[in-house]
Formats: sequence, C-alpha cells, structure tokens
Amino acid sequence: MERKLASIVRIKEIISIDGADFIELVKMENNFWQCVSKKGSLKVGDLAVFFEIDSGLPIDDERYQFLPDSSIKELVSGEKVYRIKTIRLKGKLSQGLILPISLFPEVESRECGEDLTDFLNVKLWEPPQKGDPGQSRGNFPNFISKTDEDRIQLFPEYFSKYKDTDFEVTEKLDGCSMTVYYLDGKISGVCSRNIDLKKEGGGYFWEAADKYDILKRLELFGKNIGIQGELIGPSIQGNPYKLLEREFYVFNIYDIDEQKYLSEANRCVALDLLNEKSGAKLIPHVPVVCVAELFNEFTDIDSLLEFADGKSRLNKEVDREGVVCKEINGEISFKIISNKYLLKEK
Ligand code: AMP
Ligand code: MN
Repeated sequence: MERKLASIVRIKEIISIDGADFIELVKMENNFWQCVSKKGSLKVGDLAVFFEIDSGLPIDDERYQFLPDSSIKELVSGEKVYRIKTIRLKGKLSQGLILPISLFPEVESRECGEDLTDFLNVKLWEPPQKGDPGQSRGNFPNFISKTDEDRIQLFPEYFSKYKDTDFEVTEKLDGCSMTVYYLDGKISGVCSRNIDLKKEGGGYFWEAADKYDILKRLELFGKNIGIQGELIGPSIQGNPYKLLEREFYVFNIYDIDEQKYLSEANRCVALDLLNEKSGAKLIPHVPVVCVAELFNEFTDIDSLLEFADGKSRLNKEVDREGVVCKEINGEISFKIISNKYLLKEK
C-alpha cells in the first residue's frame, strides 16, 4: 500500500502545553498521531489537512514557507522538498504537520481519510542510498507479495479487535528489504524491495545471497518459496549497527504455491531445514523480542509506543528502530517505530 502522506482528518482533542504561548498539542479522530500546531488555528471537530512524517512538501508553495530552511532536503529525483520529521517541541512529541483545511481552497472533498498525497504534490522522503545495489533485470515477481508494514498509529481499532490474539514481536531492522525466490526449478532470483536484480555485475543484494548460499539452499529444498528479510550493514541506511560486513536477517517466508506467508512456526521449521542444506554461513532470523497477547499487555497507544523503544539485539549500544508485530498465523501485521529512534534521525 502506498503511504497516505497527506489526508483529511478531524480534530479530536486540543491540549495546551505548559509554558507554551504559541503552540498546542493536537490529536486526531482517525489515527493515533499527535502533532503540535499553532495555537488557536484549530478547534475540536474541525477538519484539517494532516501530513505524516516523511512527507516531502513542495518548497515553492507559500503555505509551507514558515518551515525552517534546515528541513529542506533533496529527493533522489533532485527535487527539493520540506521534509517533515518527528520533533520535540516544549517537551512534546510532534509527528507530522497539521493545517486548517481553509488553507486549501483547492481541496473540495470534506471526507475524513481522503488521500491528498498526489493532489497536493506530496512526495515520500527517503534517505539516499550509497553503494551498488546492482542492476534491474525486471519487475519484482508478481507471484510473491512485496514486503511492507503499516504503522500502528493507523489502527486504533486493533486495541479491542485483537485483545486476546498472540503476536510474534521481532526487532525491526533498519536496512533494505531483500527477497530470494525459487519456482519450479525454472525461475529463481534475488530482488530488492521493488526490483528483480541481475546477477552479472554483482551489487550488494547478490553478494549477500551468495554469502549465505541462499539460491543453492532453495534449490536443494525444492519448494516454491520466497525468503524475505532485511539486508543491513555498510552502505545501507548509514549502517546504524556499525557492522563490518553486510548481513541478511529473515523475517518472512512466502509460499508461492499457496500464495500466502508461512505461519511463524512453519517459517522457523523451514528456515532450519534450509540451513541444513549447505555448509555456508547460516541464514539468521531477525531477533525475536517476544510472543505475547500484545493488546492485553499494552492497553493504550502510549505504553505500546514505549514498548517499541529499546536497544538493538545486534548492537547493545544502539537504539532499535522499533518492532514488527505479526499475528502468529500471519493474519495481520504492523510496525511500531520507536519515537526515541525517530527523534535521533538527521
Ligand atoms: P519501513 O522500513 O518503514 O518501510 O517498514 C517496512 C519494512 O521493514 C519491511 O518492508 C521490511 O523490509 C523491514 N523490516 C525490518 N525488520 C523487519 C522485521 N523484523 N519484520 C518485518 N519487516 C521488517
Ligand atoms: Mn526500513
């Protein structure tokens, strides 16, 4: 799902901030984000336009020009944007930008949730990648699901809906998504998040696939599966774990014949079996934080967000990016990004 970076929301609550004369805290009805805004500019019940973190806003639009120049970043396309990120103002966490809908006369809709991302020309800001990922040989295979996770802030209803449900909680690693697949002994390949990559000429995805001998393992295993994980280390996302070489950690195995993900239990069995097939370096699983009835343990968003904070299992001196929570049979999943981690983003 493409991210809805800009959308119409309704104001649920406005909270004044001690010692702040010009700003106040705003909460919305449709989600669990909170955002600081100019005092008096919004009232409870008002409609507003909300821009999520990682929005890139056009710099030539006067409505955004109060944002600091220091937030101007260059997209991969070369276009410059105001980048919206998590900040703390007067001690309060502010995530996103919220503006009165009256500032946007070109928006005719009054429907909460309406996606305005393209209409307002909002772009996703992503940090530039260094190093050589390799060249494309085609699109990501259409018989495998792409990796993606939505943020818990978008699902207020989960707190009641999944109260007694067990979730597998794994550490969210900050790298690049990588998929290696095998189909009927005929087609196999290595992919980045969106692209099937050429073996010739290398690139760090193929290099990692070779390091763990993943294709050979898949071939010997003989089942039609795609193994998905995170590639982390030098040249990727600034190598937050300070690794000396790149490593690959599995978080999903996709059953191509059944067109669905293996359950947590079957994924672990399959990974063990794959690892028996070659003497190469064992393919590790992403660190498992716990299996728990998450919404019984954490009954509100604040405690759940706090739970996502913590040190990485891969480097105890580094804050983890957050956690990914999966219903143990693979029904639903979501990510909880650590606010501690977001606040340190450059
Ligand atoms: P984001 O990195 O914010 O786009 O969040 C979704 C991505 O997190 C997925 O596409 C994966 O590449 C990545 N990811 C990192 N660690 C995990 C994990 N433990 N479980 C699932 N996905 C993960
Ligand atoms: Mn990521």
